[in-house]
Amino acid sequence: MQKLSQTQFDFIIIGAGSAGATLAARLTENSQFSVCLIEAGGEDKNPFIHIPFGLAFLTRMTNLGWEYDTEPQSQLNDRKLFWPRGKVLGGSSSLNAMCYIRGVPEDYDRWSDMGAKGWDWKTVLPYFKKSEKQQHGESEMHGADGYLSVSDLRHTNPLSSVFVDAAEEIGLAKVTDFNSSEREGLGFYQVTQENGQRCSTAKGYLRPALARPNLTVFTKALVEKIQIEDGVATGVKLQLDGQSIELTASKEVLLSAGAINSPQVLMLSGVGPKEHLTENSIECIVDLPGVGQNLQDHLDAIVQHRCKNHDSYSISLALIPRYVKAAFNYMFKRQDLFTSNVAEAGGFDRTQTAGDIPDIQYHFLPAILLNHGRTTAFGYGYGVHVCGLYPKSRGEIKLRSNKPNDPAMIDPHYLEHADDQKVMIDGVRRARNILAAPSFEKYKSWEIGPGPDAQSDEEILAFIRKKSETIYHPVGTCKMGDISDVMTVVDSELKVKDIKGLRVVDASVMPTLVGGNTNAPTIMIAERCADLIKQEYK
Ligand SMILES: Cc1cc2nc3c(=O)[nH]c(=O)nc-3n(C[C@H](O)[C@H](O)[C@H](O)COP(=O)(O)OP(=O)(O)OC[C@H]3O[C@@H](n4cnc5c(N)ncnc54)[C@H](O)[C@@H]3O)c2cc1C
Repeated sequence: MQKLSQTQFDFIIIGAGSAGATLAARLTENSQFSVCLIEAGGEDKNPFIHIPFGLAFLTRMTNLGWEYDTEPQSQLNDRKLFWPRGKVLGGSSSLNAMCYIRGVPEDYDRWSDMGAKGWDWKTVLPYFKKSEKQQHGESEMHGADGYLSVSDLRHTNPLSSVFVDAAEEIGLAKVTDFNSSEREGLGFYQVTQENGQRCSTAKGYLRPALARPNLTVFTKALVEKIQIEDGVATGVKLQLDGQSIELTASKEVLLSAGAINSPQVLMLSGVGPKEHLTENSIECIVDLPGVGQNLQDHLDAIVQHRCKNHDSYSISLALIPRYVKAAFNYMFKRQDLFTSNVAEAGGFDRTQTAGDIPDIQYHFLPAILLNHGRTTAFGYGYGVHVCGLYPKSRGEIKLRSNKPNDPAMIDPHYLEHADDQKVMIDGVRRARNILAAPSFEKYKSWEIGPGPDAQSDEEILAFIRKKSETIYHPVGTCKMGDISDVMTVVDSELKVKDIKGLRVVDASVMPTLVGGNTNAPTIMIAERCADLIKQEYK
């Protein structure tokens, strides 16, 4: 994006995703700081990023993502799962489904109990509010002056309303705001959109900051490693325009490459489990066994039905006039179905084994989804996605080699804990129960999945093993917490243990998954960290 005219900065940020773009915008508010933001992907010029409905096609665009696949999953019939992650300004916030969810207070109080002091709900709520530009204005739970626009959907499909209305028919609450005190039940999601367009962190945070003279942004620049000298992070080595160059940081290097790439970059820099680094011929500078461990993700299964009428979104000749009209309405008014994020409605529910808080989340899609949208699905239909929110299985990220261009090995170990299987089985039953509500009668044709033959626990589990996929929320691979815990990677100020001038700031520091989508929590982490840094270098 910018030419190389300067090689020394106060702060170097690796990765311009949800966290990195947020950090860059907040740190450059202080005109005394010079900040360099380095992004492996390109600029976010593709219009499908910005038109919300375009998300249905983003996973097909191989130039916008890392195109990761997991290792074969033994509990999922040895399938390798596709894991899309953004490789573009805005990172995964440029590709995501825009659902704005924070999780529940208990998520953050648990982090604090686990040793992440200062990350309890009372302390983090002001940072959620600080980030937010809420359409309905400021309130006890919402902020209105932030960079992240949070809005109601401008268009919703009639089937999404049927889903929300089904709540009362099956004994669940109808929720109007999942980010207030009433969280359990079904409702419409609010979305990270402004004026009917996606509000990624590139759009919301970075764009207003780009004019600042103290911000330099390099795109298509892959950081190979962090330079560490005598226990201090002094800069980075990167590939830019086919050349290998070095940049120095006089204050700090901030690693925001996401839950897969942050541990990879740390390990390539000599920070990680000693034995594994040695296996890959990397000199171990700091032996941190927790790097890459503690991987957690939300596994997702879909209960899908064919629809009797033409109300759902679909690829069909009959809908061409409708899409033409929608295109005009989008172009001239930013209204109509192209403003939809498709996952318009959803909710939170408790399975048999849940405690006091919901342990499953629903995303309702008024469309048939195949292979993350990478396979064209013809015909009309709808489905409830259900994911287990608090998996007990733990996976890992490992190096495939010591070459920065080789993708890391991703092994989430899905469903290896028997309790995770129970949650998913009951979750599928509950999702089925929603679609059996009387309101769906006039739409319901046959069940595509799990299918009428899957009734017993064993049969439902067999379906989950065969069909479940990620719902894109990997976290935990550079765990934050008490430094006396040998598996923590960063302390409560996100500083990497035993190294000066290096922090990890992204979804990888979450000690445990939150009970919901992970974009807003990641942005909150970056907001709070920016404040910690500003206070330290006052
Ligand atoms: C398809 C999809 C749908 C989702 N839907 C939702 C949703 O609806 N709501 C929600 O809240 N969350 C959603 N999420 C999750 C959410 O977007 C992520 O949790 C969040 O964006 C993670 O932020 P991050 O900063 O940790 O990583 P990212 O946003 O992925 O940023 C990491 C950045 O670092 C860059 N990078 C990596 N390695 C290097 C390197 N070596 N050198 C330079 N740059 C590098 C990457 O290219 C990327 O831009 C979704 C995610 C996906 C992929």
